[in-house]
Amino acid sequence: MDLFEYQGKQYFARFDIPVSPGGPADTVEESVKVAEASGYPVVVKAQVQVGGRGKAGGIKLANNADEVRLHAGNILGMDIKGHVVKRVWIEHASDIAEEYYASFTLDRAAKQHLLMLSAQGGVDIEEVAERDPDAIVKLHINPVTGLDEATAKKAAVDAKIPAKAQDGVASILVKLYRCFTEGDCDLAEINPLILKPTGEVHALDAKVSLDNNAAFRHPEWDEYRATEELDAREQLAREKDLQYIGLDGTVGIIANGAGLAMSTLDVVNQVGGTAANFLDIGGGANADQMAGALEVINFDKNVKSIFINIFGGITRGEEVAKGIVEALGRVDLRAPIVIRLDGTNAEEGREILKNAGIPESKLTSKPTMLEAAKAAVELAKK
Ligand code: GDP
Ligand code: MN
Repeated sequence: MDLFEYQGKQYFARFDIPVSPGGPADTVEESVKVAEASGYPVVVKAQVQVGGRGKAGGIKLANNADEVRLHAGNILGMDIKGHVVKRVWIEHASDIAEEYYASFTLDRAAKQHLLMLSAQGGVDIEEVAERDPDAIVKLHINPVTGLDEATAKKAAVDAKIPAKAQDGVASILVKLYRCFTEGDCDLAEINPLILKPTGEVHALDAKVSLDNNAAFRHPEWDEYRATEELDAREQLAREKDLQYIGLDGTVGIIANGAGLAMSTLDVVNQVGGTAANFLDIGGGANADQMAGALEVINFDKNVKSIFINIFGGITRGEEVAKGIVEALGRVDLRAPIVIRLDGTNAEEGREILKNAGIPESKLTSKPTMLEAAKAAVELAKK
């Protein structure tokens, strides 16, 4: 789950990472109140989950209440790369001497945490990586031993952070690492991490992505869940308790088991098609879940064909078939279904489908995954 900047900063503050005093606001008058409390000058910052807000006009400096009214009025409701601004974050403006970059992620291949640190912050790190890859220090951290102040300082030296900022940077790195691990983040990024003319080091931006698998030990994440920006399809799927991820292809996919769903995406790609989604209806899926899954797929206007790939273990073929028949009665599917039904009670399932009198144009059955994928992709191209 991705956090907005203001949530990321509030999260940072819990781990003692220095951020500017400020607060969120949803209206112009609220913005003025927060600005007064933060102390002028302030920056008014659009809260959208997309980079480059500054260039898009979503970050403005304000010296008094009238300027806050002007900028908050312009920014609230603004469209930034397809994201409409509903909230701004107002904070006391900082004087900047230098801008750095710091982040922690998980390097799955190395089975270790990865620190990336650069003295060239404030711009896209991808840009730095392309222009001057040596300007980014990459340090693997063993999760068992963690990160101590001395190692963090060495990273700051290696990244050519000037001597006067090294201790401040090292101290923030240790705190950011705690935030990343104890706070269960997938990503904790500060860009820019600034050095003020007074010598203090400080987080000016926050990009935090939380690891959903750890949600059970963070009841406090519920407040982030409430503001989460989900794709409308993903929202619907969540309401139905389905494991769904929206993609941008044309073949809607339903499979039982995450592994089979992933293989189904691969096979659809292999035969020249594109998947509209990942959807795992799970082991032991019943008729109701199948009907719900079809409703979610049908909601996606890009879907031109639906590939149902079931290998029944705990999931029983006749339940799957009943779900399809029920869904066809409940919703008017815009796209034809191709089904590959195998495993437990597959015969019974196919019998139910045959006897339901569904026309060929709405449902065809194929004996193998590959044949079914080919048929679904062909239908999607019509
Ligand atoms: P992003 O472009 O969406 O990542 O937004 P950031 O929060 O990183 O801000 C972009 C840029 O705006 C920063 O790199 C700074 O140059 C500038 N900026 C943001 N806040 C302040 C501030 O308090 N004072 C000053 N002087 N510049 C700021
Ligand atoms: Mn930034």
